[in-house]
Amino acid sequence: MLPPIARRFVAGESVPEALDHVRACNEDGIAVVVNLLGEHYDDPAAARADADAYLSLLDDIADSGLDARISVKPSQIGLDASAELFEEHYREIVARADALDAFVWCDMEGADTTDDTLDAFESIAAEYPWRVGQCVQSNLRRTRDDLDRLVDVPGAIRLVKGAYDEPASVAYTDGARVDEAYREDLRVLFEHRDRGVAVGSHDPAMISLADRLARDHGTDYEVQMLMGVREDAQRDLAAQGVDVVQYAPFGDKWLSYFYRRVRERKENLTFALRAVAGR
Ligand code: FAD
Repeated sequence: MLPPIARRFVAGESVPEALDHVRACNEDGIAVVVNLLGEHYDDPAAARADADAYLSLLDDIADSGLDARISVKPSQIGLDASAELFEEHYREIVARADALDAFVWCDMEGADTTDDTLDAFESIAAEYPWRVGQCVQSNLRRTRDDLDRLVDVPGAIRLVKGAYDEPASVAYTDGARVDEAYREDLRVLFEHRDRGVAVGSHDPAMISLADRLARDHGTDYEVQMLMGVREDAQRDLAAQGVDVVQYAPFGDKWLSYFYRRVRERKENLTFALRAVAGR
């Protein structure tokens, strides 16, 4: 069972618990991207099982009438077995979303997966326009060039700073340089698109820049933040009329995700220690 300490960041272990969380967010005017926790399956059967779980999750979301999308990880639905298997599962999931009038996001993992992930995104978005969205990472040196190729693809783009430790040969490793790249990438997206921009950041400076750029260019955009992180800000932005979407993971493989959240910020560690101490 999911211990109370993990409930801040994880929406439960089961689909009904995840959907209860979506319902509570929707009541606050916040939509949700639901992610089934799991990654790095080199066994095709495990990748198939999670692809099936996403197909069934799409059905459950459609039946519930809730405002939710899903987000898959490439290595969860087959990329560690082969690029072909990943794309086959990804296409099947998006086809189901298309039939249900739903939407599928794809997370971005380590830099060695970027080419295969973007190739699949381009091909599937061409087949199912505006049914799919791809995460891209501003810390990667290549991203500015990738955006030139992606701005005209009929799919949404979630811009994030990037969560993976990458070598300096492929990524900016200095935080200020990553922030500069993020600002530049935001400008490119807002200048070249009138829809399909998701600002995947908790950073108030980036969220205000997005607001300014949207006013300048008339671009439709949303702010995406993680469950358990700046939830007050999520509610405040939603109350101001910004489209806010919370990324909420669920499932029994919650432990490593929870540790990642706790390790990345001192406040989160303090929260975890207080919860353990019962205060
Ligand atoms: P940071 O640079 O971490 O922080 C900047 C400022 O934001 C801080 O100074 C503070 O003011 C505020 N802030 C940040 N965190 C907190 C907090 N916990 N409490 C209070 N204030 C805070 N990465 C990937 O590599 N691939 C993905 O597919 C991916 N998907 C993501 C999806 C979503 C919806 C989000 C929000 C992030 C995703 N990430 C992904 C993670 C992302 O790459 C960053 O590692 C993460 O969002 C931290 O960067 P940041 O922009 O939020 O701000």
